[in-house]
Amino acid sequence: MRIHSRRCLLLLTGVVITACGGAPAPSSEGAEPVGLAIVGARLIDGTGGTPVDDSVVLVRDGRIQAAGARDAVPVPDGAEVVDASGQTIIPGLVDLHGHYGGSIEAAEQALKNQLYYGVTTTRSIGSDPPDKVALMLEAHAGRADLPRAFTAGLGFSYPGGFNSSFPNLPTTEDEAREMVRAQAALNVHFTKMWINEVAEPERKIPPGIRIAIVDESIRNGLVPVAHIDEEADAVQLLEAGLNEFLHSTVLTFGPGSGAPMDDPEPGQEFVNLCLERDCAFTPTLSIIQNNWHFAELPELLEDADLRRVMNPGALERFSDAETRAGIIEADNFTDRQAAFRQVQNFVKTIHDAGIKVALGTDSGTANVPMGWGTHHELELYVEAGLTPMETLVAATSTGASRMPPVGEADFGTLATGMSADLVLLDADPLEDISNTLAINRVMLRGEWVDRESLLAP
Ligand SMILES: [Zn+2]
Repeated sequence: MRIHSRRCLLLLTGVVITACGGAPAPSSEGAEPVGLAIVGARLIDGTGGTPVDDSVVLVRDGRIQAAGARDAVPVPDGAEVVDASGQTIIPGLVDLHGHYGGSIEAAEQALKNQLYYGVTTTRSIGSDPPDKVALMLEAHAGRADLPRAFTAGLGFSYPGGFNSSFPNLPTTEDEAREMVRAQAALNVHFTKMWINEVAEPERKIPPGIRIAIVDESIRNGLVPVAHIDEEADAVQLLEAGLNEFLHSTVLTFGPGSGAPMDDPEPGQEFVNLCLERDCAFTPTLSIIQNNWHFAELPELLEDADLRRVMNPGALERFSDAETRAGIIEADNFTDRQAAFRQVQNFVKTIHDAGIKVALGTDSGTANVPMGWGTHHELELYVEAGLTPMETLVAATSTGASRMPPVGEADFGTLATGMSADLVLLDADPLEDISNTLAINRVMLRGEWVDRESLLAP
């Protein structure tokens, strides 16, 4: 009966032409959903294929029923038609690197901020205690007001090493395996380890323990990923069976960070090994460049939406002219920029070599605003030399392809049968990648998102 009255209501609004009155629909399964047709937009489907102008995208039961040129995809009788002439459709964005600090409420708000900005899939990568894991699993299961989320639970490090305030600090292989099993029991999707350049190299997770973490993760159906700074560590992990790296092998975090490296180019042997093992990088350029981005462009802070998703401390800091001057007038500023340029070159080099590049931001760290930061990361990829189309592929299908079950994602492109996660834009990102911020509407699992309800007042 509920379905019956809903159909009547839809008829009254004039958007659906279907039977109202007469016999009520027998059940929700038996009812014929009419579907929705988004008509007239330029379609960028996330595969990297040629964009389709004047497209039709049919959405039904939460999925893409068909998508293509208007003459190839007829609009079924009775479908709700959305006129999207002059607009561009892209898949919802997939951000592989977020952290959700603070209270559960704060984490929930951070997720909502992402969805507001068209990030329909996110991965929380190493900072989730059990209560946050539970939230991520709720989002994963399909809460309408949160993006689809994957989580790595709490990450692994070593006593005295990077992020060693976190509890997973195994000192033996057995202990490592036990800790991985404890994570798996929480139903997380990934395991994350920090293999960072630290002041004392012996504080890095020892190679044998890394192997135990990788092996036990794979045995338990979890995907192991690692934060790495050095090529030698990446090689060891590839040989152990791990094949996704966060950040880059160009030093960015450790004691030498902030100064350009002598030899930042990945070696050919390393590139070959990466290709052989189908490895991917999620470079997170924002975590570096956002240290000065708002100091260089303080006018960005006039954006009311950005102010609402920005870390309050960072907003205050970058709103202060003296602080901004302190950053960009510092002696080491050109060095920092040059070091960043090396990381961008690294991204371009591995991408051109055929190594998969996915998009991640380190959103949730102080200087990388949730949601907004994903769009800025797109700009930094284009600045690194990827085309806008390549960048959109990184931010959609490539990211999706790394989510478990690996290679079976039902989101990330707008092909038939995929989850209808999409963003309708008022401007074309192929002309200017910053147009991904010209968001008109966001759809998640076939439902338009009530964006205005998502941002905190
Ligand atoms: Zn991170």
